[in-house]
Order: sequence, then structure tokens, then C-alpha cells
Amino acid sequence: MSIKIYFLGTGTSQGIPIIGSKHPVCLSDNPKDKRLRTSVWVKWDNADFIIDCGPDFRQQMLASGCPKMDALLFTHEHADHTAGLDDIRPFVFKQGALPVYGLARVMENLTMRFGYIFSDKNKYPGAPSVKPTEIDPNKPFLCAEKKIIPIKVSHYGLDVIGYRFATFAYITDMFSIEPEAEAKLRDLDVLVVNALRIEPHPSHLHLDAAIAFAQRVGAKQTFFTHISHKLGFHDEVEPALPKGIHLAYDNLTITL
Ligand SMILES: [Zn+2]
Repeated sequence: MSIKIYFLGTGTSQGIPIIGSKHPVCLSDNPKDKRLRTSVWVKWDNADFIIDCGPDFRQQMLASGCPKMDALLFTHEHADHTAGLDDIRPFVFKQGALPVYGLARVMENLTMRFGYIFSDKNKYPGAPSVKPTEIDPNKPFLCAEKKIIPIKVSHYGLDVIGYRFATFAYITDMFSIEPEAEAKLRDLDVLVVNALRIEPHPSHLHLDAAIAFAQRVGAKQTFFTHISHKLGFHDEVEPALPKGIHLAYDNLTITL
């Protein structure tokens, strides 16, 4: 079995740099300080899963060379995780309607915002098509013949779904987690979780809370994502992190 994790984007909702910002991190020349909106490509044997499809999706697919999509898994409906949906078209033209997975609430929201994609009524030729599947946050599901375990977390009172693939788990936009969900994170080789900035925030883990969570879960390695310019420069934050904990950066690839 092999799992390859490709970080397509590791930035918070506005990305880094922020348009028009003169913040030193936004002005940094270091490629590791340039962060597209948070998304990841998980290649598990021959199955290609993409988690979330934000406004940078097209650019991310071009940069990564991802050849196909077996499924698109949504964590939640916020725009930084969904706004690139129209750009699935090249995959739909090659493969047919794209299987998409998410909570019932997320599918309803996307159907409202992207009716021309989710409905077959008066379909414009060339519009993308999807095959939606609602997931139960408490039940593992099979997707491209792989068992995927949903991990429910809370983001300012909104349920957000993380996903576990064998010994890898990906969680973004978490503020808190119930013990039953956290119990599904035992024996991980790699955990990815959000760490927004140094100061506390009402809907995201901040750095100290993310470190405490990572240490509780105890994965062999943890990578932080969904990062704001307010976390600081990559090259200053990374060396100060505890052993086994790292900042992810765009285009980083990890193989399990
Ligand atoms: Zn987000």
C-alpha cells in the first residue's frame, strides 16, 4: 500500500500574499511563504482523491500535474474550500460526471450556489456534472474501493469533516473536536491539521492549541495547514516547532 500526500495549498481563506498587503510575510520572497487556499491531493495506490476545491483549484491542478480525480471530498461549504468548482470541467470532459462527497448540508448549499452543475435541468453543453454522495459523519464509506473514515470537528459551531485514509488523517478548519471523533485518530503516521496564527481565534486552532492537539493525537508526524500571514515567516516558525511537528507548504509531497 502506498499513500502520497501532495499539498496543493496551505493558506487561509485570503491566501498569502493578501491582495494589496504590505505585511512583511506577504512581501516575502520565500516560496514557502506563498500559500494558495487549503487543499490536498491524496494518491492512495491508484486512486486520486482531492480534498476541497477552492478558488485556486485550476492553478493547483496545473502545478501538481494531477492526472485524474476519482473523487472530490468536501470538508465544508465555505468559499475558500469550494469556489473553484467550475474548473473541474477538464476532468468531467475526460472522465464523465465527477463523484463528489460531503455532508447533506454541504450538498444542499452547493446545489443552491452551483445549480447549473448539480441539476440536469436545462443543462448548458459544456457545464460540469457531478455525482453527489451525502456522507454520514459517523460512518466510514467506500470510495474508489478505499475505506475512508470521516472525522467530525467543529468550526465556530459548524460541523466540518476531516478524512482518515489508513494511517493518514487530514483535518482543516477545526476549532474543537469531541472525544468520540478524536478517538478515530489513533495510530497515525501523518496528521494534517489547521494552525491559523499565533493569537487565539474564534473558529480556528491557533498555534499553541494546534501543538497541544497534535501532541494529544500523537501521530508520528504532524503538518500544519490553513496558515495565515499572522503565523509568521515559514523559516522562523518551522525550526521553533516541537519534534515531529512541521509547517506544511505549497507543493510539499509526503509519501507513507
Ligand atoms: Zn477555510
